[in-house]
Amino acid sequence: MPIIDYGSDIYGIDLFEEGRPFRSTAYVIKDSEIALIDTGSAKSHQVLLDGLAELKLRAEDIDHLIMTHVHLDHAGGAGQMMQKSTRALLHAHPLAAEHLIDPARLEQGVRRVYGEQTTALFGPLMPVDKNRVLSRDDGEVLRLGRRTLTFYHTPGHAKHHLCIGDDLGHAIFSGDMVGIRYHPGYTGWDFTYGFPTTSPGDFDPEVMLASLDRLQTLHPRRIFHTHFGVTEPADEAFDFCRRGVHYIQELIGRLPANVTYELIYQALSQIIAQDLQRLGHKVSNTDPLAVDMMLNSQGILVYIQKKEAGKL
Ligand SMILES: [Zn+2]
Repeated sequence: MPIIDYGSDIYGIDLFEEGRPFRSTAYVIKDSEIALIDTGSAKSHQVLLDGLAELKLRAEDIDHLIMTHVHLDHAGGAGQMMQKSTRALLHAHPLAAEHLIDPARLEQGVRRVYGEQTTALFGPLMPVDKNRVLSRDDGEVLRLGRRTLTFYHTPGHAKHHLCIGDDLGHAIFSGDMVGIRYHPGYTGWDFTYGFPTTSPGDFDPEVMLASLDRLQTLHPRRIFHTHFGVTEPADEAFDFCRRGVHYIQELIGRLPANVTYELIYQALSQIIAQDLQRLGHKVSNTDPLAVDMMLNSQGILVYIQKKEAGKL
């Protein structure tokens, strides 16, 4: 079971999400109290338990489960984990907390994106006992011992997204907010590549840029992405994410009326190919990013439709 030791008592567990290595990480912070940031989906539950065991931890040893947001690759396994982590409290954005307590609406939403494949991809969703869920406001803190974690409301990817600041680790755990860091072990490329994630249905480029600005003013040294691993110096992650959002804004500006998903997908693939070229990388195609380009295209389409309908 691959465990990555990032120093400052921060550990990453590769969750083998989608059955693939270097896709998703759960982070463990060891202090007087122990925190787990994101569980991955219910399908990754056993992998997560195995990873904890390698760190000499049982599920019962976890004091705090912190969910960056409720998308199933992050929090789909929260219900299972809370059943085993009997003394743990779960911390989430107020809008996310509702969904974790009663996942029915969340499941409906996910089914709109993934259809029949939802359970096969993510496993079953289990509710979390509401008495063990803490809704966290912007700026609230959690002391673990020597270190203090701070919760930041960071919309742009999802309205219910939290980023978590860690004073001792000089870090921000960014969930999906500061883009995806594509590890060579995932893409098969010989370099790391970064691009924002614009999956449906709350993506909003302007709101995302505002959240990026805000996080950057905190001057973290390291960004811990759920997908995948750490960007250090942190500014590199802010740069690639912002650059990607600007490309997407340009794209939205030049798309014809009644744009289709297919057209967005094609354009996005072109944008990424050009970005790779500009960065000096020689790759023959963008296929390794196909899953995310599909999700990103859907998210961009949803944004355009909402904007046209005056729903933003
Ligand atoms: Zn994600």
